[in-house]
Amino acid sequence: MEQFMTYPLTVQVPSSSSGELYDISFFMDIGGNLKASCSCQAGRNSTMCKHVSGILNGDLDNVVFDPSSREALTHFLQTDFPRSDFAKAFREYQEAIRAAEAATKAKKKKTDALKSFLQGGYF
Ligand SMILES: [Zn+2]
Repeated sequence: MEQFMTYPLTVQVPSSSSGELYDISFFMDIGGNLKASCSCQAGRNSTMCKHVSGILNGDLDNVVFDPSSREALTHFLQTDFPRSDFAKAFREYQEAIRAAEAATKAKKKKTDALKSFLQGGYF
């Protein structure tokens, strides 16, 4: 397989509110583990931010590339990332978010169903 990936792979994504450009890097730590960083506030706190999650979900519309980074990022998303422990943890994180959203919807339905049994005001 072609092996041109070099780390760190760095791109930029503008803040949705201020337009400030955040630096997003994908790199290997010394143990060979794939990691990401983002210069936004959440990223600086080691929290998954929408900039990193957007890229990992393949949303590259807002990504600012230099001439070589588009191909490198596409390659990364198709090869190194899917095989990584990071990808497994990211999939599990997204499944948990979907489960939480489904639970919130189910709770609202049950809460609404219970309303017919409850009488507001005093007798
Ligand atoms: Zn970020």
